[in-house]
Amino acid sequence: MSLVIVGSLAFDTIETPLVRRERIVGGSGTYCALAASAFTKPKVVGIIGRDFPRKMLSAMAARGIDLAGVSMKAGKTFHWEGRYGTDPNQRTTVRTDLNVFARFKPVLPPSFRSADILYLANIDPDLHGPLLAQARKPKLVAMDTIRFWIETKREAVFRELGRVDVYFANDEEVKLLAGEANLIRAGRKLLEAGPSLIVVKKGEHGALLLGRDFVFGILARPCEDVVDPTGAGDSFAGGFLGYLDRVRRFTGREFRRAAVYGSVMASFAIESFGVERLLSLGEEDVEARFREFKSLVSF
Ligand code: AMP
Repeated sequence: MSLVIVGSLAFDTIETPLVRRERIVGGSGTYCALAASAFTKPKVVGIIGRDFPRKMLSAMAARGIDLAGVSMKAGKTFHWEGRYGTDPNQRTTVRTDLNVFARFKPVLPPSFRSADILYLANIDPDLHGPLLAQARKPKLVAMDTIRFWIETKREAVFRELGRVDVYFANDEEVKLLAGEANLIRAGRKLLEAGPSLIVVKKGEHGALLLGRDFVFGILARPCEDVVDPTGAGDSFAGGFLGYLDRVRRFTGREFRRAAVYGSVMASFAIESFGVERLLSLGEEDVEARFREFKSLVSF
C-alpha cells in the first residue's frame, strides 16, 4: 500500500499566553507526514521556497518520507501565524501569507500515481480536482480543511466533499461548513454531501467518528501541559491514515483503531513547539501510548 499526502510545508509563528516562537517549521503536510512515518513510508507533495531549511528535509527523509513530490521555487515558503488564548482549543489566525503556496500546481510524480490512500490535507479545494485526475483509482481519498478555505471558498469545499471517502475537520469547522449549531446534525448534513466517514476532532475532548450507520468516540489523552496545539489535527490524520496504510484494511474495527493511533500522534504533537517531538519518536513510544489509551477506556 502507499499513502500520498498533499499539503503545506510551512513556517509557523506561534503565540501562546506564555511564549512566542517565530518562523518554526510547520505545515499540514509536514505534521501529517511525520506522524504517518511512525507506521509507513508516506509520500509528500508540496511546495517550498528557497528559505525552507534543508536540515528539515533531511530529517524527514531519514524517517522514510519520500519527498520526490516537493518542489522548491524561487520565493518565500508559506507562512502562517496563529495565536492561542488560555484555552488551547481557541485559536486565532493572525495572518496567512501564501507566498509560493499561491502558485502551487501540484503534480504527482509517476511513482505517486498509484497511491492507495490519497490525503488532500489543508490545501486550496480547487486543487483537488486536478490532483484526483492524476491518481489511478485510490482505494481511499481523504481531505481536511481549515477555516481560511471554508471562509474564502465555501462552495468549493462543499463540492469536494462529494469526491472523498473521509473528511477530517474540527467541531467548529463541521458546524461552520454545514451552517448548523448542533454538531451531530451538522455532521449528518456533511455525510449527505458524500463522504462515508467524518472524523470530528474535538481538541482536548477527543474525537468522534461519524459514519452513516455508526458513531465511535475517543477521549484525548489527559494532558496538563499543552505546549503548542498546532498540528494536532494534521498529526491525527497522519496517525490515522498511516496506520490504515500499514494494516491495508478499511473495516470498522480498523477505523476505530486508526482513530486511537490518530489520537496518540496528536498527543505527541502538542508536547513541543513545532514538529520537534514527532521527529524523535520511536515505535515503542507509540505503542506504549496506544496501551495508555486502551487502559483509559477499559472498565
Ligand atoms: P492544525 O493545527 O492541525 O489545524 O494545522 C496547523 C497547520 O496548518 C500549521 O502548521 C499551518 O502551517 C497550516 N496551515 C494554516 N493555514 C493553512 C492554509 N490556509 N493552507 C494550508 N495550510 C495551512
